[in-house]
Amino acid sequence: MIKRMIVVIDEDKCTGCGKCVSPCAEGAIRIIDGKAKVVSEELCDGMGFCIGICPEGAISIEERQTVTFDAEKAAAQAPPNDVYIQCFKCGSEDEDRYLLPIRHNRDSMWVCTQCLPSLIHG
Ligand code: SF4
Ligand SMILES: [Zn+2]
Repeated sequence: MIKRMIVVIDEDKCTGCGKCVSPCAEGAIRIIDGKAKVVSEELCDGMGFCIGICPEGAISIEERQTVTFDAEKAAAQAPPNDVYIQCFKCGSEDEDRYLLPIRHNRDSMWVCTQCLPSLIHG
């Protein structure tokens, strides 16, 4: 056990929308019984990329005693098949273009680098 940063999910706020599952490259988050859960703390590297994705503000990060992060085990996780990782404007997937997470009107979505300039410049 070591003291390090790790993700915490507030089940009262979580709607089970699933938007945080694919952004976790380590495969640490799954939807179980309608709520997002960190399935194994050794898969969570504590970087918190999922925090900005959650439209409900249900994800935070805390420092506490837990198991060490297992990078090999995380790399071996099968990538989840998530329909949410698509550019909301053109529908491109992350295999085709670079995608960035953005927020608008209290929602979380993805935009590709080709469509992003039109959001910036109108
Ligand atoms: S993005 Fe937020 S509300 Fe949606 S499943 Fe993940 S923790 Fe729950
Ligand atoms: Zn696009």
